[in-house]
Amino acid sequence: MNQHSSLNRTIIQKLKTITGKVLVSDADRISYAYDATNLHYLPDAIVFPENQEQVSNILSLAQEAEFPVVPRGAGSGLTGGSLPVKGGLLVVLTRMNRIISIDMDNLVADVEPGVVTGIFHKRVQSMGLFYPPDPSSSAYSTLGGNVAECAGGPSAVKYGVTRDYVLGLTFVIPGGDIVQTGVRTAKGVVGYDLTRLLTGSEGTLGIITQMTLRLLPHPKCVQTLVVFYASMHKAAENVSKIIRKGLIPKTIEYLDHAAMACMPLDFPGGIPDEAKSMLIIEMDGAPGQVHTDIQDVIALVTESQAISVTKAENSLQAQSIWQARKAISPALYRYAPDKINEDIVVPRSLIPDFVDKVDELRHATGLTMVTFGHAGDGNIHFTVMLDKNDPVAKKKADTVIESIFDYTLALGGTLSGEHGIGITKSGYLYKELNPGEQYLMKQIKKAFDPKGILNPGKIFPEP
Ligand SMILES: Cc1cc2nc3c(=O)[nH]c(=O)nc-3n(C[C@H](O)[C@H](O)[C@H](O)COP(=O)(O)OP(=O)(O)OC[C@H]3O[C@@H](n4cnc5c(N)ncnc54)[C@H](O)[C@@H]3O)c2cc1C
Repeated sequence: MNQHSSLNRTIIQKLKTITGKVLVSDADRISYAYDATNLHYLPDAIVFPENQEQVSNILSLAQEAEFPVVPRGAGSGLTGGSLPVKGGLLVVLTRMNRIISIDMDNLVADVEPGVVTGIFHKRVQSMGLFYPPDPSSSAYSTLGGNVAECAGGPSAVKYGVTRDYVLGLTFVIPGGDIVQTGVRTAKGVVGYDLTRLLTGSEGTLGIITQMTLRLLPHPKCVQTLVVFYASMHKAAENVSKIIRKGLIPKTIEYLDHAAMACMPLDFPGGIPDEAKSMLIIEMDGAPGQVHTDIQDVIALVTESQAISVTKAENSLQAQSIWQARKAISPALYRYAPDKINEDIVVPRSLIPDFVDKVDELRHATGLTMVTFGHAGDGNIHFTVMLDKNDPVAKKKADTVIESIFDYTLALGGTLSGEHGIGITKSGYLYKELNPGEQYLMKQIKKAFDPKGILNPGKIFPEP
């Protein structure tokens, strides 16, 4: 065991009694020290509870012995939310992975937090149902992690984000009390909305042990278009033009030329040499309506000087397009060993201004910058690729991030659309939240977690 551990032998023994197994070897601790940020902090021990009672006993012990507890799903977070920055116990929820029930009549599902998002998608789809929140990490992220971060994804432009599908929650608060919130009905306004408060709380208020999720009937028809443009500005402009026309696609994804260069060479239909940006547009709904809407989109982008428009011929081709899109984030490491990834949101009509600003900063600094993401809802993933050991590049990148955040707020945007604050953005929180909001949020944290044991060091900047 780590000699500086906040967990002594007696605590480890008690944790073994609760969960049956506790990992404490260096190899295990290192394996769980990471998330998708590439930052690392060693936990003192790791447990894998199998039910709510075990989670409750863990948080009761933690409150009594005052050690930090950090919930973790798949560890795919992009802001360090599941990293144990103050050591302590990592509580990995992946063994609580039962889809408890799917109620076809009322369109609700009860699930445990460790269910992998993509597995849930497939299960409900096999029953003719649809769960829209679709983070690009859905092949491995967990529903618990999605709720804790209020994950979004390409389809948020039409269907909204995770919070729009969480009807009720069961969670455990520090001290071990089990709290049930929300409803199983289509409506409900009794008291404060604690379900929404927990959704997006980044594991700082309670450990979610069960979720009641809202489902929709699966759309009968989906069609996918790929549109290339000779300028980044033109593609960005088309995003709001499409919506202004009264067309609400399921997705409008934007990719600049640096992101496109990370797509596989066998991308369906190929990539024109002169292409500087692209949109992936998907319409869904009743077949007749989808057909008409797709024709309208094709007419609009053609009028707007798109250099090519291709419709996916079948669902396999559409799948390859999405596979290529989802592979971009990890493929960016071809540019440099380190990545600073931000997920700002601006009003949709101002995406062209944002894209131009990035271009200006790219030319001024010489840094590799990539923009892509869920442009349909204004959520652009702005990424700087660099070697963090290069002090000149690091300093330039920090300055660029600061100006991007300031510019985003000046456009009426927000600093994070879906990845949360965690540790990587906590230093910038004060830029967006006014002192009144910060005060109330800290009071809420105290009400749930008076001893500050649950996921400490997250969201709020520390001295
Ligand atoms: C390639 C890639 C693409 C991505 N694309 C998207 C995208 O399109 N949209 C998007 O929103 N995100 C995206 N993400 C980010 C990430 O996948 C999401 O934030 C996801 O919701 C995290 O789920 P997870 O299970 O990995 O959670 P983790 O990373 O393990 O944890 C995330 C946070 O949730 C807390 N947490 C986890 N489980 C619980 C629980 N049961 N109770 C309470 N708190 C809990 C943790 O403490 C932490 O603060 C992407 C990540 C990668 C690597």
